[in-house]
Amino acid sequence: MQIKNWKEALNLISLELTYQEYNTWINQIQYESSDEKSITVSVKSKLVKDIITERYLKIILEKLAEINDKEIKINIIVKPQTERKSTKKAKAVSKETKLDPRHNIFNLKYVFEKFVVGDSNDLAAAAAKKIADYPGKYWNPFFVYGGVGLGKTHLLHAIGHTVIDKYPEKKILYITGESFMNDYITSIQKGIMNSFRLKYRNADLLLIDDVHSIQGKEGTMEELFHTFNTVYAAKKQMVFTSDRPPKELKKLEDRLRSRFEWGLTADIQPPNFEMRESILRRKVQEESYKVPDSVIRYIAESFSWNIRELESALYKLFAYQDLVHEEITLDLAKRALKDMISVMSVDDISIDLIQKKVANYYNISYSDMKSKKRSKNIAFPRQIAMFLARRLTEFSTTEIGNEFGGKDHSTVIHAISKINQKYENDETFRIKVEKLTSAIKENH
Ligand code: ADP
Ligand code: MG
Repeated sequence: MQIKNWKEALNLISLELTYQEYNTWINQIQYESSDEKSITVSVKSKLVKDIITERYLKIILEKLAEINDKEIKINIIVKPQTERKSTKKAKAVSKETKLDPRHNIFNLKYVFEKFVVGDSNDLAAAAAKKIADYPGKYWNPFFVYGGVGLGKTHLLHAIGHTVIDKYPEKKILYITGESFMNDYITSIQKGIMNSFRLKYRNADLLLIDDVHSIQGKEGTMEELFHTFNTVYAAKKQMVFTSDRPPKELKKLEDRLRSRFEWGLTADIQPPNFEMRESILRRKVQEESYKVPDSVIRYIAESFSWNIRELESALYKLFAYQDLVHEEITLDLAKRALKDMISVMSVDDISIDLIQKKVANYYNISYSDMKSKKRSKNIAFPRQIAMFLARRLTEFSTTEIGNEFGGKDHSTVIHAISKINQKYENDETFRIKVEKLTSAIKENH
């Protein structure tokens, strides 16, 4: 059997015990290993083992059999604290093992306690918290937008977790824009639109992630429009996330776009240096690694436009350290992250220099960078320049917008997110961007 089955069994067990019992006893059990017919778990003392065996063995075996469709043997071993993997890690896991199995719809790590709040996301975070505490009471809908990897999904899941805990009776529906569309299409094909409608329109809390992806999909937009109206009229809470603000969802029907603006719209901006540092510190604390300040600073300086990148750099460093068993030092970090960091020591690069270099590379004039022209051959290099400005300088998206002929910061965010996506998915493009980056740095 797989560890996944064990977790599923825990969920079923949790449904039948009180929170107290589950937390005091079941949560102490640590998964060790398993094969086809049996599972080995550990607890930290004989006493715990005896109590679990006496009171809970029956239900554990029952649930394991249920999930695996056959009898599974369980072997409980006693492992004193020091021998168990990392106590810190074990603690983190047990905290995440929540009572209500619906928590598993969401990423268990995406909770409010783990969301670092700073200038770039304070409105979005505060509003999300309020909505989670009092769904349906404040703004409807709540619309969060921002670039890739900045915490939109994290906030959405945090709302879900909180509502499950605070209002267990509420029906929660979480879906991405894309899955909503697929569900819609399948329901039409199967001729079960009634149950589709019932499902969405009955939700007390409707969470739709990345709603921008339904742009231009006629039928889906229409269906969401009607869903919106029903849920809204019933005063049930809706939360949407998107990579751009409603007014820039150009291919959305007007009536749907205007509804998205009925409630509260909040953006998440890329984090500034201090915030990147505190995010890293928080993540280091959560795992049990020792990371010196110089290394935190180094990572915070090198990964400046996306929290997911920041995180993966840190995890890569941890993985590297586990492999080489050396103390984490600046030198080790540089070695571990050398593939990820192509940009180093880039103090004081000006936006002006970036604009000139990019204009030159794409054969457009420098003044086009600041113009309002929207033809693709100009808009695209301009977006790349915005992306590089964010990546290579410390300017905020508002400041960057100003340098591009007074563009709104949401335009800049959209540009960065668009280019970032292409950068991540398109190898040839990535090489081009890296070349441009080196050219800018050389001139500096
Ligand atoms: P998005 O949905 O905007 O693309 P995610 O919510 O998936 O971004 O976030 C990307 C990663 O960054 C996740 O692992 C998330 O936990 C982490 N993250 C984002 N914002 C924060 C924050 N403010 N504090 C801590 N972690 C964050
Ligand atoms: Mg997301």
